[in-house]
Amino acid sequence: MFEILKALPADPILGLSAAFKADTNAKKIDLGVGVYKDEQGNTPVLKAVKQAELAYFNSESSKVYIGPPGAAGANTLLQNLIFGASHPAVTSTRVRTIQTPGGCGSLRVAAEFIKKANPPATIWVSDPTWANHIPLLGNAGLTIKTYPYYDATTRAVNFNAMMETLGTVGKGDLVLLHGCCHNPCGADLNREQWQAITELALKNGFTPFIDMAYQGFGEGLDEDAYGVRLMAEKVPELIVSSSCSKNFGLYRERAGGLSIVYQSAADADKGQSNLLSVVRGIYSMPPNHGSAIVETILASTELTNMWHDELAEMRNRIKALRALLNQKLIEKGAQQDFGFIEHQSGMFSFLGINKDQVQQLVQNYSIYLVDSSRINIAGISQANVDYLAESIVAVLK
Ligand code: PMP
Repeated sequence: MFEILKALPADPILGLSAAFKADTNAKKIDLGVGVYKDEQGNTPVLKAVKQAELAYFNSESSKVYIGPPGAAGANTLLQNLIFGASHPAVTSTRVRTIQTPGGCGSLRVAAEFIKKANPPATIWVSDPTWANHIPLLGNAGLTIKTYPYYDATTRAVNFNAMMETLGTVGKGDLVLLHGCCHNPCGADLNREQWQAITELALKNGFTPFIDMAYQGFGEGLDEDAYGVRLMAEKVPELIVSSSCSKNFGLYRERAGGLSIVYQSAADADKGQSNLLSVVRGIYSMPPNHGSAIVETILASTELTNMWHDELAEMRNRIKALRALLNQKLIEKGAQQDFGFIEHQSGMFSFLGINKDQVQQLVQNYSIYLVDSSRINIAGISQANVDYLAESIVAVLK
């Protein structure tokens, strides 16, 4: 029966990684895959994670299943990290958080849960959005539509156009928002804009759904959670998918969470039973290790402080590289303004060059990036930034 299947084209980012590996040019730069890298181009295990793993290894006494919601202790600590322990939605027990296999697992479980509650629901996603949002949410059978978000001319959020489209979205439908560090465009909503969308959700009745994959990579753990915390306070229902892949550097361990804010604690109990039945029907129970490490870190003041320092180091490195690339582009004689790179947030920005120019960077300069011109800022270093800026200026001539 499988012979009828037709081969699908390779994933563009994975293809790019393979081409990068095979390239023998000593000056090659990988700006493709979205993982954090240090100055040497490595993605090491965080020290806080290593220490937590040692402690966990010594104290772990059983490998018995942890159950569909994951470990209660880990879920409480993750919930506090996202919402803040004293948040009214938390203290009134309107939020339920479950452990999921990464942010992807969370998005998929959320989509199946929405499908259960309201099969004809439409999810409105930003144009552009992270490419994997479409299969993760769409394959569950939900309808996906887009709202305008990034304006390639102003290199900022086109908030008027966004609000105009969201003004047509009503009860029963959902609006997916990036909590911070928008992937792929790096342009985030400011506080006034979060407030305006919150008002609109209240007025029109749509349900916000926030994907929070980079908490702590933008301005700080609390600052990056502004939108989530505001909405959790004001709107009756909210979905938050979160990932520990980037901020804890736990990528392959598949650690994430799904938090749902309900109108009441009674709704939360009903909702949770349905959510857990969705989980049972997909992977039954989440993996333990990554979330156990997150729990070990967050339960220890010493490890939490160590993690905060390491997270700040990653965040500050990205910010410094943003400023440095802009400065180097000016120095090398770029005719256009790249100031937006400095002001945007998180790991990604669009260079804003066309496909032809991207291909020139890949083929003539061994600088690897996807056709959309999205770059992973963490792939830049003090050692390669001059070559990168010169090459960009050269292909723009
Ligand atoms: N959402 C966004 C916007 C992302 O960029 C990512 C990771 N690239 C995820 C969710 C999922 O992350 P993971 O499944 O690796 O935790």
